Amino acid sequence: MRRRAEVAVVGAGAAGLVATRELLREGHAVSVFEKSGRAGGTWAYDPRADAAADPLGRRDSASPGATVHSSLYESLRTNLPRELMGFSGFPMAGRAFAGDARAFPGHREVLAFLDAFAEESGAAERVRLRAEVLRVAPLGQRQGERWAVAWRGEDGEVAEEVFDAVVVCNGHCTVPLVPKIPGIDKWRGKQMHSHNYRVPEPFRDQCVVVVGLGASGIDIALEISHVAKEVHIAARYSEDRLGKIELYQNVWMHAEIDCIQDDGQVRFAEGSALAADTILYCTGYRYHFPFLDLDGLTVDDNRVGPLYKHVFPPKYAPNLSFVGLPSKTIMFHALELESKWVAAALSGRATLPSEEAMTAAVKEDYRRMDEAGRPKRHTHVLWSEWVEYMDWLADQVGEPHLEARRREVYERAIKCIWSLDDRYRDQWEEEEEQNGGDCAP
Ligand code: FAD
Repeated sequence: MRRRAEVAVVGAGAAGLVATRELLREGHAVSVFEKSGRAGGTWAYDPRADAAADPLGRRDSASPGATVHSSLYESLRTNLPRELMGFSGFPMAGRAFAGDARAFPGHREVLAFLDAFAEESGAAERVRLRAEVLRVAPLGQRQGERWAVAWRGEDGEVAEEVFDAVVVCNGHCTVPLVPKIPGIDKWRGKQMHSHNYRVPEPFRDQCVVVVGLGASGIDIALEISHVAKEVHIAARYSEDRLGKIELYQNVWMHAEIDCIQDDGQVRFAEGSALAADTILYCTGYRYHFPFLDLDGLTVDDNRVGPLYKHVFPPKYAPNLSFVGLPSKTIMFHALELESKWVAAALSGRATLPSEEAMTAAVKEDYRRMDEAGRPKRHTHVLWSEWVEYMDWLADQVGEPHLEARRREVYERAIKCIWSLDDRYRDQWEEEEEQNGGDCAP
């Protein structure tokens, strides 16, 4: 017989909403706590920069809760096509939710999609808005214990409720990860993290160094290039493309920043140096769980661990779980599969290995990462194993493996992002019709 659990979900972004649908489908009772005034998480664009932080996103510790959650910029369009951004039974493809039917829609379209999904799935009515979770703690020390959730409501009152299980879906693109550049104390220009980037105008006529070559780094560098004097992208793994980027008048690619010289210039690892006005870090985010202080569960150099398959801490499984940690995959699909697994593990339909076996599996994963020379901070970056991970999750819950078509579309999208051609989104459908889709590298 399936167990029915009372479950608290922390956060009503894409992860919290799809987790709620899957938990409800599995027969659980669900309460979703959302600290902001609406569901949608990251996709709820906020034109303000983070007022409780400096431009680098460093928090004012007196007001850690009063921050801007979303890191979206005004012009943002999805970096994956809409056919990869729906949920099963509720696709994004083939219809428009806010009138933006493009293959790569703007952020408002994704938010409208999530609103519609929340309504249709019944998740919306489980969400308590302006309810910030302050503390999540087990009532005992053993697996299977119940959990106390302390939360603050709109009126400022703090309440505590007890649940069988907690699913953490608080999002991981808010707290900036800023690398320490040797000699940065000699830097006299501006510094900013992409968390606080909204529009290109403040960079007009500037010489800007953009650090990082992820999807946001590329988007922002190319957007700024339309107003800036020069844009210099500094990135690891860029050796084969150093120098001016042909497609643009004023964009150069460099190796990573080596240091800030005594004269205040930025020196790159390939040896060149230049004077710049701003360093703009597009260097990703830190996992941050201010409401969790658990024995044996840590965030160390951006590794949340130990976590069995990025979801369950062995000591507290299945009653504590995390949805949405892995990156470099089809995000919405991963959120859905992880959610199905959590829901099935809580009901007993999916069986987890023993605590010891899960701990051993996590250790083995870490050993393999070390052996491959993979830095600890990339623990949740899926890289080449993304398909294997998705198929493994699918096996846990009896879902089909990833279709070849979706895999190809994802790989094509990644290739397009890396082509550094900012026209790829608009050319996508045209190219698909002409040659089945390809992006020149
Ligand atoms: P979020 O959307 O961040 O939601 C977390 C929610 O938890 C928020 O609503 C927050 O208010 C709430 N919360 C946090 N702490 C608490 C608390 N203590 N109590 C109560 N509530 C709390 N993905 C794609 O698939 N395609 C894209 O094109 C794409 N582009 C992106 C572009 C940018 C610039 C960024 C930053 C991300 C992008 N992503 C993209 C990734 C995106 O983050 C995920 O797709 C997805 O939206 C993450 O959902 P989430 O629910 O895990 O987190």
